[in-house]
Amino acid sequence: MTASKSLRKSEWKDGFLFLGNQLALDFLNTCPVQNREAVELLPDFDALLRWFQAADLLGARELATLRQQWGESVRGQHVLERMRELRERLRMAVLAWERGGAVHRGAIGELNHLMAAHPMLTRLKATGITSIAELWFDPSRPEDLFAPLAHSAAMLFASVDRNRVRKCGQCVLHFSDTSKKGTRRWCSMQLCGNRLKVAAYAARQRTIHDNGFR
Ligand SMILES: [Zn+2]
Repeated sequence: MTASKSLRKSEWKDGFLFLGNQLALDFLNTCPVQNREAVELLPDFDALLRWFQAADLLGARELATLRQQWGESVRGQHVLERMRELRERLRMAVLAWERGGAVHRGAIGELNHLMAAHPMLTRLKATGITSIAELWFDPSRPEDLFAPLAHSAAMLFASVDRNRVRKCGQCVLHFSDTSKKGTRRWCSMQLCGNRLKVAAYAARQRTIHDNGFR
């Protein structure tokens, strides 16, 4: 499966959030806070497989094979737990990096270790008379799922402008701001934007009201 990602109309896909504009950030966003409670969107190995499918990293057939072979296995569960631990360490590293700090040495070491053990592969693909090189990985074992995540996290730190990567002003979600102006402040209009706009509107109304009676 390739690691390319198409533009999405909705931020939700199959029960997962895709608003980060970057795979590693979408992975961080698999534990959003809703109604003041952290919601684990990856409670089991099957949910992890569905997330990979929603992220266009696994095809239906690959998902079915993995589910059949590893769905109820201790190994699948172990990979899921390792992935959630990686997610939380990555969250700390991304937060520090967003604030202008260096990427944690521990994070660099862990990502290098993962990329060496589970590398992304390159293949040449003919497109008419030209050809393109695309990244892919072979998801035959649960551990292989680390390949696109580690690669994407490394690309985030190496290639994405950190001034454009930030946490939502209202919640725990992260995103890479790809807007023209670069002034995106919240994860999404639907989740936090409307709430802020309503609060700002109410504040403005109060000011108008207060001034009117002065
Ligand atoms: Zn938010």
